[in-house]
Amino acid sequence: VSHYLQNIQTKAHLNAFVEVYEQSSLKKAEEIDEKLANGNAGKLAGMVIGIKDVLCLSGHQSHASSKILQGYEAQYTSTAVQRLIDQDAIIIGRLNCDEFGMGSSNENSAHGKVLNALDPNRVPGGSSGGSAVAVQANLCTASLGTDTGGSVRQPAAFTGVVGMKPTYSRVSRWGLIAYASTFDTIGIFSHTVKDNALIMEIMAGHDIHDNTSSRKPVLPYSQLLHFDKKAKIAYLKETIESPALQQEIKENTLAVLDRLKEEGHEIKAVDFPLLEYILPTYYILTTAEASSNLARFDGVKYGYRTPNAHNLESMYKLTRSEGFGEEVKRRIMLGTFVLSASYYDAYFTKAQKVRRQIKEQTEDLLSEFDYIIMPTTPTTAFKFGEHSGDPVAMYLEDLFTVQASVSGVPSISIPNGKDKEGMPIGLQIISNSFKEAELYAFSNYLK
Ligand code: GLN
Repeated sequence: VSHYLQNIQTKAHLNAFVEVYEQSSLKKAEEIDEKLANGNAGKLAGMVIGIKDVLCLSGHQSHASSKILQGYEAQYTSTAVQRLIDQDAIIIGRLNCDEFGMGSSNENSAHGKVLNALDPNRVPGGSSGGSAVAVQANLCTASLGTDTGGSVRQPAAFTGVVGMKPTYSRVSRWGLIAYASTFDTIGIFSHTVKDNALIMEIMAGHDIHDNTSSRKPVLPYSQLLHFDKKAKIAYLKETIESPALQQEIKENTLAVLDRLKEEGHEIKAVDFPLLEYILPTYYILTTAEASSNLARFDGVKYGYRTPNAHNLESMYKLTRSEGFGEEVKRRIMLGTFVLSASYYDAYFTKAQKVRRQIKEQTEDLLSEFDYIIMPTTPTTAFKFGEHSGDPVAMYLEDLFTVQASVSGVPSISIPNGKDKEGMPIGLQIISNSFKEAELYAFSNYLK
């Protein structure tokens, strides 16, 4: 803990942590030392973990990096975090992110931007940028982020670490401040696949507080990392041939596929014509869900309330006008639009139908193949400001990560070399639902 506290201090300019729980972490470390001496420490003893500022920890502030939650203190601890604490992980602080998880660059945060530790002029990715940089820069052993459309995998790719998004419903969402409830998952950043697998096996599983959480048994992923079979692997032509794809990412992805072929695995290029519809489907459905989820922030129940109101209505309006950032407002507007009576069928209902088709076709493919491999992102970490005036360009950054999110299947990003400017490249591996063990084992083999 002292080592990490020291690093956090020397690398404070990265702006990864919003708050550091210095005293409580040091105290907890002493208690765990004692448990270790007595031989009764939990499975995560020695792990120091940072959590994204959208996860609740009782007695601590949680702001979702939004002004509207200023002053909000969590009344209870999220299940995912509680399970880590129960196994003696030390929660060292909360981590910066895009407001309510909306963004791909960590530029949309009320706490300011997070810098990529490899190049201060480049973004760390988003929305879990703080969580990624905290691991990248050795400010903690591992961290929790959330992934609704790529927010763990994309920043993991931009910072050169391992980032895992589990199957939707594998990890309880209780105590997670919602963005889009049918997409939200809690994921993990780490340096190694093994650490990631260990944390996942402890965090996953049914929770009486979240009825959507799965009752399927959780396997001991960290003990199932040995991989010795011949895999059937698909790659989507539309991803590898995408004009948006940076040349070096294409080369490195193809190099992995070549290597796998040489090692006796079956590799096949397949068509996935629905690819171009995934991003629009994602942004219609997530903005709809966000507009509904964010209705609760009205100045009455949580956090910020405007000091400028003169009656009830102006209190609601001004609180929301002053409390939400520009991107969040844009999404509330879009979401309310696609849900409005005259456009509901044209946008929301249609997007639901397209989502089902994407999900079915993805699952069909994953019953024929063990894995789908594709780049995590079309480009490596871009410069600050490069996309901030152009929301559509920013949304295009999620081109390859949204398929797993729309389909609910698990997906991991592992480092796959660097581009000529030294920025990390991510490789994405997708498997069918609840095949986390297979995904971890294969990633461990690939690394
Ligand atoms: N960049 C995507 C978005 O802005 C993904 C965010 C996320 O996964 N939380 O919606």
